[in-house]
Amino acid sequence: MANLNQIPSGNRVHIGFFGKRNAGKSSVVNAVTGQNLAIVSDTKGTTTDPVQKAMELLPIGPVVIIDTPGIDDEGELGALRVKRTKQVLNKTDVAVLIVDAQLGIMPEDQELIQLFEQKQLPYIVVYNKSDLADLTEKMEKDTFIQNKIAVSALTKENIYELKEMIGRLAVKEKPHFPIVQDLIERGDFVVLVIPIDAAAPKGRLILPQQQTIREILESGAVAVVCQPTELKETLAGLSKKPKLVITDSQAFGQVSQMTPDDILLTSFSILFARHKGNLEQAVKGAVAIETLKDGDAVLISEGCTHHRQCGDIGTEKLPAWIQNYTKKKLNFAFSSGTEFPEDVTSYSMIVHCGGCMLNEKEMKYRQQSAMDQQIPITNYGIMIAYIHGILKRSLKVFPDIEKYLL
Ligand code: SF4
Repeated sequence: MANLNQIPSGNRVHIGFFGKRNAGKSSVVNAVTGQNLAIVSDTKGTTTDPVQKAMELLPIGPVVIIDTPGIDDEGELGALRVKRTKQVLNKTDVAVLIVDAQLGIMPEDQELIQLFEQKQLPYIVVYNKSDLADLTEKMEKDTFIQNKIAVSALTKENIYELKEMIGRLAVKEKPHFPIVQDLIERGDFVVLVIPIDAAAPKGRLILPQQQTIREILESGAVAVVCQPTELKETLAGLSKKPKLVITDSQAFGQVSQMTPDDILLTSFSILFARHKGNLEQAVKGAVAIETLKDGDAVLISEGCTHHRQCGDIGTEKLPAWIQNYTKKKLNFAFSSGTEFPEDVTSYSMIVHCGGCMLNEKEMKYRQQSAMDQQIPITNYGIMIAYIHGILKRSLKVFPDIEKYLL
């Protein structure tokens, strides 16, 4: 049986808990999770970072619980507090606001509700301490709140019902496209080119590679996996022409030369941009490199801070390739982890990593935010393919998108 802790964070429902310190947020988090998480202190003036923990939560399934510091904590005020809350909301699938039922909804709670609504985020207001009073009348007065429930963290009254409510709101948006299933048929050969170099994680393949292999197998097709150095030999040894070659973006140049023109070639980045519904935006974003001028700023954004699977692509290779391609004097700015800027209007272009450590919600937020501000956004793989002149070839599988190339 699969170890549930191996389910990647990006595929789990993210549940954010919010509220004032004295509303009993930590007690409700503990009652819901059945664990003594005690991850955020309820003591005044002790703001800490939001803390997240992956777990299996019945009846919802694999989740990430995000416990946030008290919204009224004095250690962090005003704009900074709102900024941090928004960063958590960008990846939250369902928000749970704990209010002290005896006090009712306070101005700070109201501020949070406004943020949830701005982000169009499903949320539940939990009236805690139902053991101390009959809350029916109080709850009925708050007619503007659609999802509300009275619970007692102390007696566990309605805790299971709260979890069911979270589960109902947590229905995740499904990606529009499969990864590769609609491009292949039973019996087809598909060659996957995966470099095992210093940037590859030890002892395993990364998630996009695993997921692609899984879909190929589910389609009844045959996945043949090799490194770039073995590609020529592999192609020569196959008893029939492969339907498709899929490569890691970094090996694109090499793989493109070795793969005969009559074999379709694409990359994991392109398949995943389509899978997540943003291939068109990413291709248009890459083409925007043609419009860069001297003095323009380019934001390179990474989804995590440890560069585990991406080596120095974002910090060194991409800026050098972009500079060299455009021959312009550009200013590069970098962001990583949760630090994606809210206002991106000072940039002429954004190049984002594949975001394998970010959940779908967060990636969509970033893309939408760039689109709303009319700033082109693309991803590493598509940018690399464009700069090296192989994007056209790798989009042949998707003629509808190929037309966006100049
Ligand atoms: S989140 Fe981005 S930078 Fe981090 S490993 Fe994944 S693709 Fe690389």
